[in-house]
Amino acid sequence: MTSEDQTMPACRICGSEHTAFVRNVPMRRSKQTSPLFYCLFCESFTHPQIYTEPDDQLERDAEWHITVEERNTRWANNFLNGVVLKRNVGSIVEIGCATGTMLSEARKRAIQVYGFDTNPYVKKLAWERHGINVQDELWDRTSIRGPVDLVACISVMEHLPDPQTLMFEIGAYCSAYGAAAYISVPFMTEKRDLHWLEAEVPETSANPFYLVDVHINHFSRTGFELMAKRAGAKVISPEAIGWIGYYLEF
Ligand SMILES: [Zn+2]
Repeated sequence: MTSEDQTMPACRICGSEHTAFVRNVPMRRSKQTSPLFYCLFCESFTHPQIYTEPDDQLERDAEWHITVEERNTRWANNFLNGVVLKRNVGSIVEIGCATGTMLSEARKRAIQVYGFDTNPYVKKLAWERHGINVQDELWDRTSIRGPVDLVACISVMEHLPDPQTLMFEIGAYCSAYGAAAYISVPFMTEKRDLHWLEAEVPETSANPFYLVDVHINHFSRTGFELMAKRAGAKVISPEAIGWIGYYLEF
């Protein structure tokens, strides 16, 4: 594929039509390639969602969370230690809670927890391992009636074909109830990360373009902050507390 025969899609993160084709990136799971685009306005990278996870892969994804439970328990406690310095947290809703590792640690601190995840295979595991009841739905502002202190969304936005809508839903919920949010993506990607694209095939998971089958958004700091601002965020504070992400107030 060349830039000439490619219609430039708008940036999924900021909506700008000023995007440029960078290169085709191989997808490890589907064995296809995906055209990668760079946004000249917000400097994020995005590419179309070509691959949909089949059922057996969703099940493997759910089980993968068990293999990183020890690590995530550590990160969850760093996160909870950090976030309580920001505000008083008596209740948390987690969008994309997987098998409930973080929520389980939160509940040990007498925090009331609500978990949502669209992977149907995490529900049984979260219940068996942690007694966490995961609601199998895509969260929006109507999913919870009444106030919760913190909306957590960790390693979700990079997967979504429409991250702006979820950000708006989080902003609307937080504005209505005076809640704060913590949103994390596994890596922020900047223009300096172009060197990762020198590799014909991304060979290491340190390469932000390693798992482009499922990671379809590569947020720059500018892009993420712009998206949060448009959703009404007044406080946009980068925080490395367990995960790398942003603490937001609306
Ligand atoms: Zn953009």
